Amino acid sequence: MIARRAIIIRLPKDKCDVNYITRLMALTNLAYRGFEVWVPDIPKNIQYQIYGFKNYMESLVFGTTPKRWFAETWVPLKTLRVYCDGARRGATDALVVLDFKKNVIKLYQVCKNEPGYSIEVPMPRWVIERVNEGGDIKYAMIGLRDNEPYLALVAERVVEPHVPSGCRLVVDVNAWSNGVAYGIINPGNRIAEYSSLRPNLRLIDTWYYRAEDLHKKLGRLKRLGLDSTPETRRLAREVKALRRKVYAYLRDFAQKKAHELVMKAIRLRALVIIDDMLDESRRELIEEKIPSGLRKVYLAETRRFIKLFTTQLQWYDVPYRFERLPSTVCPICQHELTQEEGRTMVCTNCGFKAPRDKAPIHWAMRAMPKAKVGPS
Ligand SMILES: [Zn+2]
Repeated sequence: MIARRAIIIRLPKDKCDVNYITRLMALTNLAYRGFEVWVPDIPKNIQYQIYGFKNYMESLVFGTTPKRWFAETWVPLKTLRVYCDGARRGATDALVVLDFKKNVIKLYQVCKNEPGYSIEVPMPRWVIERVNEGGDIKYAMIGLRDNEPYLALVAERVVEPHVPSGCRLVVDVNAWSNGVAYGIINPGNRIAEYSSLRPNLRLIDTWYYRAEDLHKKLGRLKRLGLDSTPETRRLAREVKALRRKVYAYLRDFAQKKAHELVMKAIRLRALVIIDDMLDESRRELIEEKIPSGLRKVYLAETRRFIKLFTTQLQWYDVPYRFERLPSTVCPICQHELTQEEGRTMVCTNCGFKAPRDKAPIHWAMRAMPKAKVGPS
């Protein structure tokens, strides 16, 4: 099986001709529809490449057929990889050259319609990481998003078939205030490990409330008509920086933890069960009377966490599925659970008792592993 992952990088706009890229995209759109239109003033080698991709038209790598005429269609391109040991792989006529010796990506003639025109962009760390995992960047795409030029790189990797061990890794994604709870159920249907991944909430709260305070102060100054004094400008910058810090911290946390869990799943050869019902978390935050701004912070990057997690599971061919694992319904008798102090859930019907974050793991234990794998 071949696993694929993609990344997009922004290209310097001053070095790109947006109109030219728009034309290339229009030609690609036609190519997707099976037309071959040869335009005299666009380099032949680019047009050869576009029509050379005909056999891949329905492939996932290049997306599906655009629905509208002249819809934005990214231009597929072959690549040439020049490795540190001097080895070269890929198409010799490629217009995208990944130079691992100089750590740059060179783009020829796809950014501007001038003979011999080329630009260089730094090699993203992402590429190095994929290559170190045994991946290869065979294809790239160039295109516009919101009128900004981008380069998309597609990494491919041949993955070994996953031999399941009978272990299950249950991942319950909540708001950051409760974190991502995970549990490992061993083949004997017992909980072997259980933990919650939580960011440093005190740090987040401190930054958040500091930003709120400064924001209020800023509002007062603005109401006094002091919009453009050095003091208000400094405050505005500080508020922005603090807010950015919170999101950057959570983004980083999400990325690290998603990767850690994927590595765990690989090590255990586990089937992964994910509960991504964030609505329940949102309700809980409202019940706890968390201010809406902070609620937003606690839920920030949680969707991205799931996206990162599943993308990497696919990349490593780890089977996973989404399952609803309620934390407020008894996994034994399905009676409603009552929450006691310290987020302990109790069933008044059958006597089941567990920490709130652990209840979903009990639900997963109930459901015996099924044969169906992959995203549902
Ligand atoms: Zn019960």
